[in-house]
Amino acid sequence: MQRSPRLLLTLAPAVTGAIFALALALAAPVAVAGEAPTQTEDGVVVARDTVLFRGGFAAGHQPDGNSTMIAAPAGWIVFDTGRHRAHVRRLLDHARASGHPVATIINSHWHLDHASGNRILRDAFPEAPVLASGGAEAALAGFLADSRRQSASLVAQGRIAEPMLSDVRGDMATIDDGAALLPTEVVERSGPRTIAGRAMHVGLAAHAVSEGDVWLFDPATRVLLAGDLVTLPAPLFDTACPQRWREALATLDAMDFAVLVPGHGAPMDHAGFARYRRGFDRLLACAASDADADACARGWLDDAGALVPRDEHALAGSLLAYYVPNVLRAPAARPRNACPADAR
Ligand SMILES: [Zn+2]
Repeated sequence: MQRSPRLLLTLAPAVTGAIFALALALAAPVAVAGEAPTQTEDGVVVARDTVLFRGGFAAGHQPDGNSTMIAAPAGWIVFDTGRHRAHVRRLLDHARASGHPVATIINSHWHLDHASGNRILRDAFPEAPVLASGGAEAALAGFLADSRRQSASLVAQGRIAEPMLSDVRGDMATIDDGAALLPTEVVERSGPRTIAGRAMHVGLAAHAVSEGDVWLFDPATRVLLAGDLVTLPAPLFDTACPQRWREALATLDAMDFAVLVPGHGAPMDHAGFARYRRGFDRLLACAASDADADACARGWLDDAGALVPRDEHALAGSLLAYYVPNVLRAPAARPRNACPADAR
């Protein structure tokens, strides 16, 4: 049986195995034409006022998504908070060293590699509102509750070894403390919005990667924070509605961004995103054909080209070897509510 790479997102029952056997040191961020990122003591400056803290897929561990901090008149806007304590610590240290508070937290979606750091940031900056879609509430009652049960059973049977065991226990604790994952302000629609005193455009894609995916565009710097609507080394389909996701990518493409920061992986320019989008469309078409899954994975890597560094090809291949047969070709096995009835 093909083991699920679900742990990439949450708890990861069928764990271990192939994916995490692959040692992955994520490459240094690529330079984006015209906006060459510069390395600071920790984060990567992707534009004026905007610092990216890269997440990663460390071998034997659950991943962290990328986090980005944007300087605003009232303090920092933090977009996604990561999973591990060490990741959120970097955000906290950056805010403290700057002398400015975290003024607003935004979660692109509820997956634990993007929202687990909420607790630490919320405790440190209790005044900061948390903006997110309404998806976390349903996830806590459904997907995350199921994951927690599965994990508890695997832990009790001694089937998860360190260092993954600590990560899985950490995720169980995060789910038990689920209130920290819930927004104080639910994002209900796309549009312009002043956040922490800075004029931004907030986007909401319904039923794409999750029930509701929030993205953020900064008109002053033309940086677009895409969350997991864009993920490298491959799209992560665990809770996705692929058709709606495809439509959400068309919406992003219409934005006038210079740099796009994905949920996982290095920043890209608009041409890089166009390549991602075309590869995504062709991946869905391949999955809908009778080509073998391996051919679809190879096609993805050809289409993505330089977006996927050589040393991440094996990870991309193993992800797609799972997603094509078990998710894209098995819509009936989708988690509840992944696709609304009119998009199945
Ligand atoms: Zn993610």
